[in-house]
Amino acid sequence: MSATDGRKHVVIVGGGFAGLGCARRLADDDHVRVTLIDRNNYHQFQPLLYQVATSLLSPSDIAHSLREVFSDQDNVDVKLAEISAVDPASRTVTSSDGEQWTGDALVLAAGSQPNFFNTPGAAENSFPLYSLDNATELRSRILGIFEQVDRTPDLVDRGALNFVIVGGGPTGVEVAGALADMVRETLPAEYHGLDSAKARICLLDYGDALLAPFSEKAHKYVAKVLTDRNVELRLGTGVKEVGTGHARLSEGTVIPTRCVIWGGGIMAAPIAANCGLAQGKGGRVDVQPDLTLPGTQGVYVVGDVANIAGPDGNPLPQLGSVALQSGQAAADNILAEFAGKPRSAFAYRDKGIMAMIGRGAAIAEVGKNHHEVHGQMAHIAWLGVHASLMTGTRDKIEAIIDWGWDRFTKTGGPHVLDRGDAAAIDWDDDEVVLADQA
Ligand SMILES: Cc1cc2nc3c(=O)[nH]c(=O)nc-3n(C[C@H](O)[C@H](O)[C@H](O)COP(=O)(O)OP(=O)(O)OC[C@H]3O[C@@H](n4cnc5c(N)ncnc54)[C@H](O)[C@@H]3O)c2cc1C
Repeated sequence: MSATDGRKHVVIVGGGFAGLGCARRLADDDHVRVTLIDRNNYHQFQPLLYQVATSLLSPSDIAHSLREVFSDQDNVDVKLAEISAVDPASRTVTSSDGEQWTGDALVLAAGSQPNFFNTPGAAENSFPLYSLDNATELRSRILGIFEQVDRTPDLVDRGALNFVIVGGGPTGVEVAGALADMVRETLPAEYHGLDSAKARICLLDYGDALLAPFSEKAHKYVAKVLTDRNVELRLGTGVKEVGTGHARLSEGTVIPTRCVIWGGGIMAAPIAANCGLAQGKGGRVDVQPDLTLPGTQGVYVVGDVANIAGPDGNPLPQLGSVALQSGQAAADNILAEFAGKPRSAFAYRDKGIMAMIGRGAAIAEVGKNHHEVHGQMAHIAWLGVHASLMTGTRDKIEAIIDWGWDRFTKTGGPHVLDRGDAAAIDWDDDEVVLADQA
């Protein structure tokens, strides 16, 4: 496709909810051509990463080839590249291997990354859950621990079955519920000598409630569901240090563990800091109400990487729905700009929030007024919403089959240990734990 074929060119960095929403809307206009750049050749459905990590879904259920999404739209060109520099003045991006793309409009939709808040050892020793790679790594660590305990049951006395989850937001709560189901119900059927009662799952949060954005009634429900599943809740507590074999909590307790799962917070993708863009809260890029970057012409920043002010002036939450809608709104503004029409301010349509807390337990606040539903109804709503948001028909069907299978058989999905690096553990490598045992 020539750069001088008369069509306006839009360059999009990031094929997540925001970038994909933007590209899909632009693709319907024949007067526009799009270059969609991502460091992965797939779109990953982040809300279901925890289900891959806990062996409920396969990685292929939640990752969809970007080229396949646009196979019928030849005005969208997908490029596999890591963008390392952005020049907003010329609307040019440069990849780490030196290739450049310049657009009549530029959309930055690079998402977020984990924020370890400078906690010593957390980046090196904990397992974040923000990419497909993270999810398969965590799955292998969990399964690796069970394999090793199966061969050497004494490892349980050294804390092998202690799991520490940092952060009581949706990521921490969802992974805690799913891990509890996996450890108490699914794995004992396959590891016959396993005494799952010895497993300990601790969920930490500095705050005084889990799923803080939900109502007080919801906080109680979530706490009850998790406690009933033997998840140990430690509110008002954070993690001060993560070692190879332990987590040191803020009140001083040391928990021996080979699996600290990090759901402690996110910050803007490195592109925001590396490319010299002015950063606001969480390192995110402050945008104007029409999603443009202040002081530039035709540069839009959308999704998790952007600080988009809501109606009350506070930044909108980093949610899939905000990302998708802001990507679509940027596309509308780009098309308006190309047609010489004024741009519109972005207005987020809040359809509610929801979280799954384990088999058969979920919580949903539906609609603008956040009408609250718990239990089976919320579980069904959760399934419907997530299936509808998934990218391909095949992904949806496979996920629905996997969910149905797990619901009725309680056997989970693929217990595949495919990351030997993540599963390998040197049980004598942590001086803190060894000193404790001496
Ligand atoms: C574990 C987890 C659970 C969640 N659960 C929910 C939920 O239940 N409901 C909900 O609404 N939201 C949920 N969210 C939030 C939601 O997933 C995000 O808000 C949404 O994915 C943001 O979309 P995005 O397009 O801005 O960024 P992303 O989806 O992160 O996409 C960014 C894309 O940019 C690419 N990229 C980044 N940097 C570069 C670069 N330098 N060069 C090239 N490509 C690059 C990445 O590869 C990625 O494909 C969850 C998030 C996580 C991590």
